[in-house]
Amino acid sequence: MVTPAPRLVPVPNADTAPKRVTILGSTGSIGRNTVDLISRAPERFAVEAITGNRNVALLAEQARTLRARVAVVADPSLYGQLRDALAGSDVLAAAGPEAVAEAAARPAEWVMAAIVGAAGLKPTLGAIRRGAVVALANKECLVCAGDLMVAEVRAHNGALLPVDSEHSAIFQVFEFERAESVERVVLTASGGPFRTWTKERMAEATPEQAVAHPNWSMGAKISVDSATMMNKGLETIEAYHLFPIKKHQLDVVVHPQSVVHSMVAYADGSVLAQMGTPDMRTPIAFALAWPRRMAAPVERLDLVRVGALTFEAPDENRFPALRLARAALAAGGSAPAALNAANEIAVAAFLDRAIGFLDIAAVVEDALAQVPAYPLADLAAVHDADAEGRRAARAAVRRFIARKT
Ligand code: NAD
Ligand code: MG
Repeated sequence: MVTPAPRLVPVPNADTAPKRVTILGSTGSIGRNTVDLISRAPERFAVEAITGNRNVALLAEQARTLRARVAVVADPSLYGQLRDALAGSDVLAAAGPEAVAEAAARPAEWVMAAIVGAAGLKPTLGAIRRGAVVALANKECLVCAGDLMVAEVRAHNGALLPVDSEHSAIFQVFEFERAESVERVVLTASGGPFRTWTKERMAEATPEQAVAHPNWSMGAKISVDSATMMNKGLETIEAYHLFPIKKHQLDVVVHPQSVVHSMVAYADGSVLAQMGTPDMRTPIAFALAWPRRMAAPVERLDLVRVGALTFEAPDENRFPALRLARAALAAGGSAPAALNAANEIAVAAFLDRAIGFLDIAAVVEDALAQVPAYPLADLAAVHDADAEGRRAARAAVRRFIARKT
């Protein structure tokens, strides 16, 4: 029997010694949840390196608690502060983007990639290139450079484990040895804080309202992505790269309770779903302990108390970001990288109150219309596509601001 090779490349891990781990982006939402799980099971893990962008106080506190070998702050101007905060400890302090990449290259068998945005690409690739098991939260990396990343994972005999709750769910119910029997992969979406809002109301939405997610507590950028539903678009592209499926087999369904985290439908009519309360410590624990499982202190799912699970079709008229992401996936090549870059600029402009909520998708659409899609031969081409997307989006943001004033 010939089965398509899974895009995820599992490696055996029968080791019972503590797992040596590195956390890229330890000070963020995913990073803090990862630190929480590791500090509850100190005998199972040894921490090589942790990194943050600017939050020196938290980074130093985490480094001391976890007895990390190295702590890196990405902002080079904060080196002195970090060194002072770690005085008297055995933790080595370092600073700057190069030091973040070096932290990823240090010998940890397991690396959490939880830096937000395209900034995470270089360090994540560094971990992949030394064959580490990479737990991937940073979906933007896969969106920009999915084909290249998956090729690197294969070439270096590593593994990519999904951390995104939907992809963790799919991973848990995807029968890789019977991939030809998979008919559809269905990503669930909460619908975000504006699920029931009219477009007129969304036009006035503030950053505070956009980041107040009904079910999940997350970083600002991904919270805005959830509100526009760009998050589900990025996740559709992410799923395409992680699993051996075709583009047309990917569906999205809105499920406001966030209990069913995603589903895989098979040729015999079976639909396998993974469920749980919405707490990122479950998918993080799954990746941390893989190929085993570990305890996670999350609230247990009580279906009687939940009462009803409901599902509805996504509305691409009110949430055009989903349509834009699907179009970028269909176009392939540089289109997803440009989409992601334009979205990062648009979300930042919205969080700065420079543009309105509905302008986010409009800026992305405008930017994508300016940059043609072309095949991505190598990482340099990914960086070019990212730069073009950013440039076009900045120009679009300026036009939107000019139009308003
Ligand atoms: P966050 O903003 O809370 O944390 C981001 C982390 O990256 C922080 O440690 C920050 O210091 C670091 N960072 C930011 N910019 C950096 C830079 N230029 N260089 C180096 N480090 C930098 O974000 P988050 O919510 O934890 O999300 C992290 C990633 O995980 C994102 O890609 C997001 O899409 C994904 N994700 C998050 C969730 C969630 O529940 N939070 C769920 C699924 C996927
Ligand atoms: Mg998700």
